[in-house]
Amino acid sequence: MLGTPAALRVGTVRKLNFSGGPGALPDCVLEAASEAILEVPGQGLSLLGISHRSPWFRDVVEEAEANLRALLDLSRSYYVLFLQGGGTLQFSMIPMSLLRGRAQPADYLHTGYWSGKAIPEARREGAVNVVWSGEEEGFRRLPRESELAVSAAPEYLHYISNETVEGLQFHRVVGREDLTRICDMSSDFLSRRIDAGRFSLIYAHAQKNLGPAGVTVVLVREDLLERIPANLPAMLDFRNHVRMGSIYNTPPVFAIYVTMLITRWLRDEVGGLQAMERLNRAKAQRLYETIDSSQGFYAGRAAVPDRSLMNVAFTLPTAELNVRFVEQADAEGFAGLAGHRTLGGVRASLYNGVTLEAVEALCGFMDFFRERYRREAL
Ligand code: PMP
Repeated sequence: MLGTPAALRVGTVRKLNFSGGPGALPDCVLEAASEAILEVPGQGLSLLGISHRSPWFRDVVEEAEANLRALLDLSRSYYVLFLQGGGTLQFSMIPMSLLRGRAQPADYLHTGYWSGKAIPEARREGAVNVVWSGEEEGFRRLPRESELAVSAAPEYLHYISNETVEGLQFHRVVGREDLTRICDMSSDFLSRRIDAGRFSLIYAHAQKNLGPAGVTVVLVREDLLERIPANLPAMLDFRNHVRMGSIYNTPPVFAIYVTMLITRWLRDEVGGLQAMERLNRAKAQRLYETIDSSQGFYAGRAAVPDRSLMNVAFTLPTAELNVRFVEQADAEGFAGLAGHRTLGGVRASLYNGVTLEAVEALCGFMDFFRERYRREAL
């Protein structure tokens, strides 16, 4: 043991989880979920064996939707859907719905690993105009508005609000107001306030800030549904999910239940998205300060104005020290710190379920590690 602030045995889990996703969830939600696996309060059944057609589950879906609407102050002109297939299926479903058979291109921003996955899926369905790419610069910054080569009349504009791998986050809404704006918010949804009314479609899988893997939230403005072509596979047609209230087939009951608990926690315990954002800012600030005051021992990946509040990607002076850092941190109870497999380095993800105390403990470990190894790096 290195004598750092012990991270062991905090709440119900043994390690502090800084994983890029699935990530940390609040202890109170984990406790309620594990209780419901044995017996859903008042139902006499396990959560894992309860019918998706039961009145109880209908109430769960309704409450999850109502909580989301309240948290986002979402207008009635949007549908709230709980779908399967993750963020990845949305990479396909969106262009199938809005680009297939269309005359105009769709505009895409290429800002990192995940937008690099979305673009080829859109190309299967129609013309794609990449309005900006950070690839040549190694995805270390995000574009200014003036750098975007937007089409005259694109079918839609797609971007990712937070590039999970590189740790790049837009701190503004991108693109002209007259465009059909579509955003993948998988890694920062419900972590901060947003003006949902400025988007035509927002999607976010649950496994970062809103629950376990298995469910993806889609907010879609009703007028978009009119553009969907006929003859899509039924499961890939948003209209079927709207019509059936997200119970078109057997939905992931467990994942939706936990997502509902998270929205309830955000509403009642945290006190809404403004309070959540304040906390997330404090967490990120603490960690970036530790990086910036390390005299170059820790080097942040992203350009300072585009730094993510959710995913803090950084490197140490040598590849060997990167590995040693992740290993020793893990032995001290700080889990999930290895950078994405395509990038290496270190990544600390600070999703909603990560507490300020956990970040304080990590910063303590980082100071300790630097003191111990900085001479080796000289
Ligand atoms: N979009 C973003 C921003 C992501 O971070 C990820 C995965 N981490 C995906 C999409 C893909 O999501 P999934 O694995 O749920 O398909």
